[in-house]
Amino acid sequence: MHELAITEEILRIAIEHAERAEARRITDIRLVVGDLSSVVNDSVQFYFDFLSSDTIAEGAQLRFQRIASRLRCRQCAHEFEPHGTDWKCPQCEALGGEVIAGREFYLDSLEVE
Ligand SMILES: [Zn+2]
Repeated sequence: MHELAITEEILRIAIEHAERAEARRITDIRLVVGDLSSVVNDSVQFYFDFLSSDTIAEGAQLRFQRIASRLRCRQCAHEFEPHGTDWKCPQCEALGGEVIAGREFYLDSLEVE
């Protein structure tokens, strides 16, 4: 149900912006999604189609831009991209690290008519 809540939020923000721009229709919505955000694109599109019916966002195309995750090693401060569940620092082999990218989820831009 995670995706349902965030899709409602996206729709609310999109309509608010479009109405402020006096748009009649929203055609495209660009979203930025981090690899660690656990958001499933298809679920978001599914909920969006359902929630947006009879709004100015009906039929809008969602476009997802995925962002790769990045960690910073807590031991040596080396920054690296983890591979799957392997979160070992390639430089000093310490496990884990601070997430510096990959948890993003936000509405980047809209196209309206
Ligand atoms: Zn390290």
